Amino acid sequence: MVTRMKQRLVGELAVVAICGLLMSVGAARGQNSPDAKAPAVVELRDPDARYKADILLVVAHPDDEGAATAYLARAIDEGKRVAVVYGTRGGNGGNEVGTEQASGLAAIREIEARRANGTLGITNVWFLDGKDTAGQDVLVSLANWQHGAALEQLVRLVRLTRPEVVLTFLPGTFIGEDHGDHQAAGVLATEAFDLAGDPTVFPNQVAEPLIRLEAYLEGLRPWQPKKIFYFPDAEREDIFKGKGPSYSVKEISKSTKKPYWRASLDAFRVHQTQAKSFADRLDKMDDAAIEKMMAADGWSNDQWFVLGKSLVGGAVTDPIFAGIESGPIAFRRAAFTVEAPKGEVAVTLAGPWSFYDEFRQAHQLTHLPHPEPPEIALQENTTLIIPLWMRNSTSEAREVILSTELPQGWTVTSGAGKVKVGANETAGTRVEIALGSLSDKKKGRDEAKAVTVRAEAGGKSVGEIVMKVELRKKALPE
Ligand SMILES: [Zn+2]
Repeated sequence: MVTRMKQRLVGELAVVAICGLLMSVGAARGQNSPDAKAPAVVELRDPDARYKADILLVVAHPDDEGAATAYLARAIDEGKRVAVVYGTRGGNGGNEVGTEQASGLAAIREIEARRANGTLGITNVWFLDGKDTAGQDVLVSLANWQHGAALEQLVRLVRLTRPEVVLTFLPGTFIGEDHGDHQAAGVLATEAFDLAGDPTVFPNQVAEPLIRLEAYLEGLRPWQPKKIFYFPDAEREDIFKGKGPSYSVKEISKSTKKPYWRASLDAFRVHQTQAKSFADRLDKMDDAAIEKMMAADGWSNDQWFVLGKSLVGGAVTDPIFAGIESGPIAFRRAAFTVEAPKGEVAVTLAGPWSFYDEFRQAHQLTHLPHPEPPEIALQENTTLIIPLWMRNSTSEAREVILSTELPQGWTVTSGAGKVKVGANETAGTRVEIALGSLSDKKKGRDEAKAVTVRAEAGGKSVGEIVMKVELRKKALPE
């Protein structure tokens, strides 16, 4: 397609050249000058077609691509071009192969990620400079990734790869792996989706070079991708399934003659530092035994996505590329107003939860599934921190009483009691709760239990926050 466009462009330039020649011949006749020459025609360059992608996958760590590889193998069979961006090089976690850890391990994992993509034929792979963050808080991950710098780089890569479709983690917090870094990848990808088409965002990226060997202005083009789809990092599927297209991974690839789940597995096997023992086990098995084991592990389940948004219309469960035609579409900035909470004094949940509420509004994603009440899985005998915004829109300082209702054996360690909020102030505070022990040690997890924080001012309720907390033997993602 690009080649055809180029041929047409060259053809048009040739016509301009002939016209120029005729004009100059005419002018020469008029001037009666025998040696006038045709003006030279400069052929303008296009963006580098080798980096144009149909799909841009944005994930956090080496091996996260596995969330989409079965679909990517199918898309590549259909002639789609794929590029991948990782937020980090994966310096956290164990090493199943050698002694390398931390940044030494990250250097190895970068190569493993490139090779894993290589099994699918994907070579356009980039890494942001984020560091692995052990935890579930997206705001901490974004801070650890240098949010602004990472976003600038991702916007650059969207403009460079000009994807029709972006695939990424669903930005939200749930019971599940719920890795803060996975969420950060989803947040950044959504932000880049909404910013890359705006010529006023990082304008140095879209400015044309002004001098030969230009070192500052990048010569990229603004680019608005057409659709964004998410895969959730949650354990539950009930609120997500059916909110986007679904693909069988059992179909046979026309290029490899194997089912698509197998492409995903063969890409995963490359991540030796993370899965050498698993890969070694597979090496000793024949195809039939592998298929049996993988089916039991859920590798052959359908692959499904949640539609974030489509700027080219269509139904929620339409195939990913339905309605997409090549070529740019217009950029439009959507209006967004942050509503103040109602009431003179109001206490609301802060931290990642209020961020995601506002994020969904800012990016026209209010339809995105999210658990209500908010839920979180935490390790037994650790601390639950409930961050709060305390807003006083009156002209006098106000006293607020914070109280809690907790499961048996859980105790408030700080934050409850009387707090004073200044006139016309929004102040932050937090309630800290020491979590009890698991009641079912064998199972390794308890049913989620409700934690309630109530806020009262002047004898009236000014806020009630409920959170579902599931205790686990081990919960912190690595
Ligand atoms: Zn990950």
